[in-house]
Amino acid sequence: MTATLPPFSGNNPTCVKCGNSEVSTRYLPIGRCMHGIGGSTVFGVQPNERLHRECDRCSYQWDEALNTPAEEQQ
Ligand SMILES: [Zn+2]
Repeated sequence: MTATLPPFSGNNPTCVKCGNSEVSTRYLPIGRCMHGIGGSTVFGVQPNERLHRECDRCSYQWDEALNTPAEEQQ
């Protein structure tokens, strides 16, 4: 199992499937995974907290890492 998530893509992400910029974001805690694939919902276990993105147009869903300000700490 990989624990790597794509990096946070900003406050206005763009759907990689259809190019739509109307994307909803939802926080998911450790252990929960719900992805609708092919009309069915897939449940799984994820080892990280993450942001769940869903395109409002084509319903493509993906996960990203949290927007943590770690690199800005001085
Ligand atoms: Zn889309």
